[in-house]
Amino acid sequence: MKGLLYYGNRDLRYSEDIETPQIRNANEVQIDVAWCGICGSDLHEYLEGPLFMPTVADHISGKKMPLCIGHEFSGVVKTIGKDVTHVKVGDNVVVEATTHCSDRPRFCNDHSKCLACSQGFFNCCSRLSFTGLGTDHGGFSDTVVVGADHVLKIPDNIPLDIGALVEPLSVAWHAVERSNLREGQSALVLGGGPIGLAVVMALQGHNAGKIVVSEPAEIRRQFAANLGVEVFNPTEHDDCVGALRELMGIKEGFDASYDCSGVPATLLQSIEALGPKGIAINVAVWPNVPTPYMPMDLTFQEKTATGSMCYTITDFEQVIEALHTGQMSMEKVRMLITGKINLKDGIEQGFARLISHKEQNVKILVTPHAI
Ligand SMILES: [Zn+2]
Ligand SMILES: [Zn+2]
Repeated sequence: MKGLLYYGNRDLRYSEDIETPQIRNANEVQIDVAWCGICGSDLHEYLEGPLFMPTVADHISGKKMPLCIGHEFSGVVKTIGKDVTHVKVGDNVVVEATTHCSDRPRFCNDHSKCLACSQGFFNCCSRLSFTGLGTDHGGFSDTVVVGADHVLKIPDNIPLDIGALVEPLSVAWHAVERSNLREGQSALVLGGGPIGLAVVMALQGHNAGKIVVSEPAEIRRQFAANLGVEVFNPTEHDDCVGALRELMGIKEGFDASYDCSGVPATLLQSIEALGPKGIAINVAVWPNVPTPYMPMDLTFQEKTATGSMCYTITDFEQVIEALHTGQMSMEKVRMLITGKINLKDGIEQGFARLISHKEQNVKILVTPHAI
């Protein structure tokens, strides 16, 4: 098959000579990939990796690089294992890309579960890995085989290109779920990149009240404004938190904040901008270095700071339902797609373009089929 193989740091190679993955277990599904989005994690993996890609045996599959990268994908069911009943050949599907202890039996005779998995918290698995970022070949290819538990059918009114955004929208959905945000409550989103904008969509899907996006890059502020939220330029203010509260009319502070930037300044703002009992959710991927904050900023007014890790299958189901019913606007989601390219051009027109023109792009989708 065709695919973009990850060999290591800044070493991605297009190949048409990769062995096509086949079903080996009764509970597997083989998918003909339609679209796969390039994620910030893919860029990190390319520029700074290997971070997730297995240089030695992956915790779940035992496989190692080179493997096709890509974890934000949609496709059409090509073949199903004999125990698969919830999808059939020809169905349009998306893939929940985490892999955890429950996936081990597909690859080896190990049915043991870590504490998180035994409690059903699969996104907190101590062996957590991903299809397309660790465990096995991912969506920058033409064919993927995954465990049936990770495959969700999408209804006919959700096109396959929008389907490829269900994964990043589920990251955002999970973050909003983690904050227990109630209808009408206010939210601050720090960073207007792909995940920040997806958080805006998820907040709107939860009927949040006032939503403000703080983002220094003008193009990104414009993307956020186009989604119908208020925008704030942090580079114009010395006292960002004071200005945010004043300008945005949230004097007592926000009910929830979502750090989608992951720099020391946004960590502090995500806590300081909260009102009493507010909650700060870290959605960003941080470099592995310590960063200081004031514990008393949490203690006064009993604020909470926590993180949000990927998603669960429930988040996927809820995102699909929200798109299906229009609770989350498909037109707005479509505005996040800033490029569509062919797999063979994925490195030059995809990865390279996102690295050199980061701000002009939100989501570039890649397809193995003719466009
Ligand atoms: Zn991703
Ligand atoms: Zn586990």
